[in-house]
Amino acid sequence: MSETLIPPASPLAHLIAIARTTKTRDDLEREAAITAARTHVDVAYPRTLAKTLAASHWSGYPALPAAGLAPSATASLHGGGWVHHTRDQLTVVAPCACGEGYVAITLTGERHLLRVLSNLEAGEGRFRHETGWPACDSRLPRGTRTARA
Ligand SMILES: [Zn+2]
Repeated sequence: MSETLIPPASPLAHLIAIARTTKTRDDLEREAAITAARTHVDVAYPRTLAKTLAASHWSGYPALPAAGLAPSATASLHGGGWVHHTRDQLTVVAPCACGEGYVAITLTGERHLLRVLSNLEAGEGRFRHETGWPACDSRLPRGTRTARA
């Protein structure tokens, strides 16, 4: 037995319909973050990322004012890595060869991206573990050696 608890013409049904179609501030920030990332990629990375990342690859995130974070967007590169865009900066994040963390490299342009990709290819999708910048900030136990470091 099915009974309609909310009559279709009721004020509650009308409010529910409005709620379904009304975008929240978070929704708008997510959309704006994706648009900003795509625009940045189209302008600064037309031969690489713009040809590779479709709109559906991006996920947007609203600002987190309490943490000082502006709206941002990410796109997975698969293999554990991704690109992150916020405040007109694009960063490649990929696992470190040590297996203990990630390395984040803020890109300065398409030529820089090509060098970064070359390093990732050499590391089979992982950045080399280095003690200097950029490093994964992981700390290996004394005397530990890694196969890829
Ligand atoms: Zn590392």
